[in-house]
Amino acid sequence: MAASSSGYYKMLFSLRKYTNKSQSLYLIDTNFVIRTIWTSGSKYQLKPKVQTKSLPQMVGVVGLEIHAQIQSTSKLFSGSHVGFLAPPNSLVSHFDASLPGTLPVLNRRCVEAAVLTGLAFNCTINRKSLFDRKHYFYADMPAGYQITQQRLPIAVDGTLVYSLFEGRRKNQVVTKSVKIKQIQLEQDSGKSLHDNEQSQTLIDLNRAGVGLMELVMEPEMCCGEEAAAAVRELQLILQALGTCQGNMAEGQLRVDANVSVHRPGEPMGVRTEVKNINSVRHMAKAIDYEIQRQMEVLQSGGTVLNETRAFDSKSGNTIPMRDKEGLQDYRFMPEPNLPPLFVYESEASVPAGVDSAQVVVIDRLSAQLPELPSVRRTRLVETYGVLREHSFMLVNEDGLMDYFESVVQMTKVEPRKVIGWVMNELMGNLNLQNRKVSQSPISPCALAELINLVESGHISSSTAKQVFQEMWKAPEKTVGQIVKEQDLWMINDKEELRKICQKIVDRHTEEVQIIRGGNKKVLNKLMGEVQRETKGRTDPVQVKDILEEMIS
Ligand code: ADP
Ligand code: MG
Repeated sequence: MAASSSGYYKMLFSLRKYTNKSQSLYLIDTNFVIRTIWTSGSKYQLKPKVQTKSLPQMVGVVGLEIHAQIQSTSKLFSGSHVGFLAPPNSLVSHFDASLPGTLPVLNRRCVEAAVLTGLAFNCTINRKSLFDRKHYFYADMPAGYQITQQRLPIAVDGTLVYSLFEGRRKNQVVTKSVKIKQIQLEQDSGKSLHDNEQSQTLIDLNRAGVGLMELVMEPEMCCGEEAAAAVRELQLILQALGTCQGNMAEGQLRVDANVSVHRPGEPMGVRTEVKNINSVRHMAKAIDYEIQRQMEVLQSGGTVLNETRAFDSKSGNTIPMRDKEGLQDYRFMPEPNLPPLFVYESEASVPAGVDSAQVVVIDRLSAQLPELPSVRRTRLVETYGVLREHSFMLVNEDGLMDYFESVVQMTKVEPRKVIGWVMNELMGNLNLQNRKVSQSPISPCALAELINLVESGHISSSTAKQVFQEMWKAPEKTVGQIVKEQDLWMINDKEELRKICQKIVDRHTEEVQIIRGGNKKVLNKLMGEVQRETKGRTDPVQVKDILEEMIS
């Protein structure tokens, strides 16, 4: 049987059904839907109503373009300082303002940052790369063009490995990767501040000429959650490298999300580009909204337009942006004021006569690569025996791993026990108050002291939780002070413990009879009574021994 144009009506079986009134030919398609294709008296007809349900589900396709502001004291082509909170137009050189006659001077630190970043993603570093002018008019770009690397970027063909949490309890780690097509060096633009009341636009050129790395990823992700996990990992890597601070709210990391939908096996769909995203959470929302919107457009017979859209965080929607109507012609041309950029493999490959201190040497940078997040996680699992899912929280939460390692170094307990304190007590309290690790009122040293008191049997573990809460409220007090003030020291004196146990036994004659009768479970009740009497200041094992001895 011939397949329909879409190919999904290839019939698996055919069967005929005869009744005394009519004769029909039925077919079952690949989706196991029975279709009548012929009935006696009518002409041969294949009239499956094309329902999207019977086609494979559409899926989303996501490709990210990320602009990362290079962490450097000065700009890409000028000596002006880089600063986020400086007064407007206080960090602007003549070159940044595009005064005629000024020339770019490449900042070696920015090139090194791009190479280091490329190495961290296993990119091929191009020994020679080129600068180009990309023209467009915008008030905050006084030259009328941006210097970028269109033809030959500094790094190509890398990979970003990231992980997601799946499963009902979100504790199954699934590792994925996305290819990085290229990393290019380019200039940032200035900022336009629109004053609607006076209907004027003010320009701040502090940001004009700041070095950017643009990372272009292949369209290999499928949803907001994947993109969010990838960007979070990218942020951590850049921060570990010290090549970008990665704060999205401050615009140090800016993500444009390209989104399309298609049916697996078919060519990719028309994409839209979503801009104005200022957090990882918003990006995930914007992408999922956009995928859903495009699916609905196509299902209702419409077409997706190749347009730029903005994410509106209030409504959670994406809306068309007016700025990029039609295909823009950037009139790319080689930047005439900058020679090709050469980087060298090793000291030995630097040509004679060139000062090796003035050039970029890959080997030198490889040696400087710090411990990357994925390696840190593996080390946590291998050295301390922490669970893999916990290693993510320790590394992903800024400062938490250092906090954990400090506590481990100051205590003699198993690292696993420290994890419990850090994950539950510390993170629980920080999250409740929306605080960062660096804002914890309890220092690693104070927590270590508390853990050590439990370990040495000076306070019970249930008391310790109570002490932790007191320490949180009164960081000026030492652990010892709190324990003393509230009289929380463990009762280790055998005689004193006996007296307390005797009191409880005397008060509960009925229970004692039951235990003597053979029901040992009731002993737990008496142990609970001792705990209550002493506000948790006893060791349950000791109490159990004493009670058993008294009752037997
Ligand atoms: P252009 O040259 O038009 O800018 P690129 O091939 O450089 O296009 O792709 C730009 C970005 O768009 C990349 O991040 C890429 O992953 C993404 N992209 C390309 N095609 C699609 C698509 N069909 N769906 C989603 N993202 C896409
Ligand atoms: Mg592009």
